[in-house]
Amino acid sequence: MKDNFFYYKGAIHIHTKFSDGTGNVDEISKAAKSAGLDWIIITDHNSLEVEEGIINGVCVIKGKEISPQTSDHYVALGIKNLILPDNDPQKYIDEVRRQGGFGFAAHPDEADFRKNSAKPIKWSDKSIVPDGVEIWNWFSDWADNYDETNIFKVIYSYIFRHNIIKGPHIETLKWWDDMNKKSNEIVPAIGGVDAHALKISKYILPVTVFPYKSSFRTLTNIITLKEKMPECFEEQKNVILNSLRIGNNLIINRHVRDEIPFINVKEKTVFIKLSHKANIRIIRYGECVYDDISKDLEFKIPESGKYRIEIYWKNMPWIYSNPIMII
Ligand SMILES: [Zn+2]
Ligand SMILES: [Zn+2]
Repeated sequence: MKDNFFYYKGAIHIHTKFSDGTGNVDEISKAAKSAGLDWIIITDHNSLEVEEGIINGVCVIKGKEISPQTSDHYVALGIKNLILPDNDPQKYIDEVRRQGGFGFAAHPDEADFRKNSAKPIKWSDKSIVPDGVEIWNWFSDWADNYDETNIFKVIYSYIFRHNIIKGPHIETLKWWDDMNKKSNEIVPAIGGVDAHALKISKYILPVTVFPYKSSFRTLTNIITLKEKMPECFEEQKNVILNSLRIGNNLIINRHVRDEIPFINVKEKTVFIKLSHKANIRIIRYGECVYDDISKDLEFKIPESGKYRIEIYWKNMPWIYSNPIMII
């Protein structure tokens, strides 16, 4: 099967100096460019101050992370005006929609028991349904597994940071699958880097942990288009946001392996092509209907429904697709 698609790589969930990040838009867009990204979405905590446009060759879009103090962070995209946090997330979910935007529950299942002092920030009431879910947040994943109990474990957690990444939480995937089962629409998912490039000085000399560029080489959202991306910023922004709204993005940890799989569905058959064999799983509403090693898969859909794909490289979580509706 010939691949006539165009692929655009992007990173979502980035903090700048306008909240608790350390970079400005010029530095961040340069880092994105050198990490091979085409677009980024900046989501400062409770701020919409950052500039947007095509900057250093990268399409920079601004959203915001609506961030109450202790829970229910919400990555809001396509909004026009600032939306304040509230104790009731339903209020800001509705306000985002009223402004014509949409949003993703951010890091909804951070781990309760961590071996460090960073308090988990979760989605407090799963009966409150967001428009979409950030199923994988790189920085939360790292913080869930960062061991601060002694200096050796601290150093290990920084130097071998990619080794402690575990992938999306089972509870998050279950919540997302359940929402998709109940809804006639696709409930979309994103992968977030949650990049801050924090400057810290704990035990060691002040260092920038996880510079933007290294974050941008991890969780990437790949948008697949049948036509080339338009040139002008407003049109690019529309294409990117509309793609994310309907789940036209693959979530790939490029640190595991920097490769875009070919995925297509035709006549109730899912085609997946990879350059090397990997563990492919196909999931229908939380139930695994295919689980095997392959590099060239043709999977006939047994019944209608929403199907999504997970791919593991050498047992490491690697690729997560959005659900594909098959009638
Ligand atoms: Zn957050
Ligand atoms: Zn954040």
